[in-house]
Amino acid sequence: MPSAEIIAIGTELLLGEIQDTNTRYLARSLRDIGLNLYRATLIGDNQNRIADAIREALSRADIVITTGGLGPTVDDPTRQAVALAFGVELEFHPELWEEIQERFSRYGRAATPNNRRQAYLPAGAVAISNPVGTAPSFYIQHEQKSLISLPGVPKEMEYLLASDVIPYLKRFYDLNGVIKARVLHTVGVGESFVDEKVGDLETLENPTVGLLAHPGQTDIRITARAESLEKAEEMIDRLTQEIFSRLGDSIYGIDNERLESVVHQLLVKHNLELRISHSGFDPHFFSALTPELFPAIHLDGREPCEPLPVLETSLPHESILHCTAWLKKGSPKTFLSIQLESVHFKEKIERSFGSAPENATLWAENTILDVIRRKLIQIQTGESPNKG
Ligand code: ATP
Repeated sequence: MPSAEIIAIGTELLLGEIQDTNTRYLARSLRDIGLNLYRATLIGDNQNRIADAIREALSRADIVITTGGLGPTVDDPTRQAVALAFGVELEFHPELWEEIQERFSRYGRAATPNNRRQAYLPAGAVAISNPVGTAPSFYIQHEQKSLISLPGVPKEMEYLLASDVIPYLKRFYDLNGVIKARVLHTVGVGESFVDEKVGDLETLENPTVGLLAHPGQTDIRITARAESLEKAEEMIDRLTQEIFSRLGDSIYGIDNERLESVVHQLLVKHNLELRISHSGFDPHFFSALTPELFPAIHLDGREPCEPLPVLETSLPHESILHCTAWLKKGSPKTFLSIQLESVHFKEKIERSFGSAPENATLWAENTILDVIRRKLIQIQTGESPNKG
């Protein structure tokens, strides 16, 4: 399978003035056609450094894609840097110059001598005409390797990628494969626990399994490469089943599913209303739980007290699940107490968190939602809840 590298060019990227969204877009597009992306580089507008980066990338990878630096000014060094990297001169392409002039005249403007610069390409390059902008793009094939230079403006880059570059790569490298990924979200168990359960799967070559930890949640990413989407999905399905059999209820959702939505759906299913009272949290605590999106969940700003406040409601108490949460932030540990209460049960859960205090609120939100989720699953499966 051919490998690829990306080089994003622009000093403003290195200064942190704009975000490098092109690399992300390119990475996903390459993944979707089954290419292995091994490295992505950010580099400023410096001809020599770009030329070095291109040479190095081409010594490792089969395909190198650059983005940016194709404009008409001296600050746009990509054409010159590519010529330097390949040890060739820039050549004037009269047909490109005509295209550029024609495009300007369509907008009632005249191309400047600067724009003429854009009609020069490294010797041996094939122009990719750019109907959506002024920067002509190009590619150079050298033996089995390809260098492709695309504009920096995201819309232009995306257009040329879809219209020319992807079809070219598929044709030239005979790419029929796809790479498909799925993310399983776990909650309430630490990364090391998940690692212990699925560690052997993390050494698989295809599909691959990787972990990504967040406060209170750990994601498991399964990525499969296959000749068709159906085959890739079949491989992922098999592994998903295996991981479910090992982690069970610790997995709350797949891909875009969110924990709060899962809890909300369970509440609606059981015709329950959740009331949360809390103390010790930041003001933005549970800010995602808006009444518009989650009408079955009510956040009570009151300080919790013992006994629990009597909450006014039009629903019978049968339908209400109370959750009271206390957070005590501290070093080295933050402590969370959760009390869950309904007319059928009452239970208290204590948890602690030893990582960065700034992540404690997110951890607590995930932990509270998970405790409620597990209780709702227990109710669903008919396990007898504690009698209060
Ligand atoms: P053009 O001649 O059309 O300007 P160009 O190839 O010279 O194309 P640049 O001058 O490098 O492109 O960048 C133009 C604009 O595109 C930047 O000001 C920025 O807004 C956007 N851009 C450039 N590179 C990236 C990137 N990697 N990710 C997101 N946006 C980018």
